[in-house]
Amino acid sequence: MRRKFRFTGESYDLVRNYSAPLNYGGHAQEIKEEEKPACPDDGPKTEEAEVQENTAVHAADKRTVVTRTDVGRVRKNNQDAVINTWPLIGVADGMGGHKGGEVASSSARDLLVDLLLDKEPDEQLLRRAIQSVNYRLFVRQSEDDALTGMGTTLTVLWVDKDDILIGHVGDSRAYRLRDGKLEQITQDHSMVAEMVRQGVITPEQASTHPMRNVITRAVGTEDEIEVDVLREERRPGDIWLVCSDGLYGMVGDNRMTELILEDKPEIAADELLHAALEAGGRDNVSLVLMQDEEAAE
Ligand code: CA
Repeated sequence: MRRKFRFTGESYDLVRNYSAPLNYGGHAQEIKEEEKPACPDDGPKTEEAEVQENTAVHAADKRTVVTRTDVGRVRKNNQDAVINTWPLIGVADGMGGHKGGEVASSSARDLLVDLLLDKEPDEQLLRRAIQSVNYRLFVRQSEDDALTGMGTTLTVLWVDKDDILIGHVGDSRAYRLRDGKLEQITQDHSMVAEMVRQGVITPEQASTHPMRNVITRAVGTEDEIEVDVLREERRPGDIWLVCSDGLYGMVGDNRMTELILEDKPEIAADELLHAALEAGGRDNVSLVLMQDEEAAE
């Protein structure tokens, strides 16, 4: 099957080139948030009532969410945005001229949260919301010359009671760590990923390919957009990682697996970020780690 590429073009390469002046020391934007399960009833409890409550509450409702975002060691601005508005979590990686990237990723986050926050998780709704965000960003950039060429990746988990809905456009990634194995759940909408799928190059070649920064889909660059929506079962013990290419492009999957398995999410998130910076931090680094607690706890 032949596919037509739709390149997001020069503006993307412009912000994704790695020749920006060195500007190390950008840890100011680190965000540290953890979510604890809400207590469904604040009233006094007898021992018996607590036991009943524990069995009634779905084990997966106990979770930890940790996010990190950092400008990295080379770029001047952090054009990534992290979404941490339970039950909606994820990453947007902006692109575009002077301010465009930051506007695109932060607007995508805010618009999506507005559209979904008080709604029940639903696949159609998720798809339509991302399409709506896309259209609004597209209109905005057509009306403002300063924002021409802006766009963003968007990879979000919308966590329901038993399932996780995933909405995805671009080359940020959602991974699931289950039974000690890290699996990339989303497919990159990038030129090199397409070439790997077509057997033209190997995944190893993709990681160093000169065109690895060219994405084939982004939110906000066209009036219409195709959105990947997936549904995955939620299982206690799973750890989900959503991250921008500034993490997985600098730290391989094997190393990421080791770091996640090594410690609790709060520490693992720091270790992942530090690993990306140690490896050069050539891009903005953003990640969300979500751990569903084991049922036995
Ligand atoms: Ca990036």
